[in-house]
Amino acid sequence: MPHLYSCPVCRIESRPYALEEAAQRQGQRHRDERHGGDHPHGETIQEVPYQLPDTAQLRILAAIVAVVLFALIIKAF
Ligand SMILES: [Zn+2]
Repeated sequence: MPHLYSCPVCRIESRPYALEEAAQRQGQRHRDERHGGDHPHGETIQEVPYQLPDTAQLRILAAIVAVVLFALIIKAF
């Protein structure tokens, strides 16, 4: 499951990261840049569900699949 860093003091959430360690590194960067390295009250690393790809990503995937299928058909003949 992806993870994100949340800082309630700044009212921000990071983008989701595939690894929890990456979300923790983002949290450390945020603390260093915005809070002088201190831990803001209530900060958390949260597990978030996987997100389905959006329409633009699906179009790119469909184009890649079409090119691969076209290449396989050409190679077969
Ligand atoms: Zn903050």
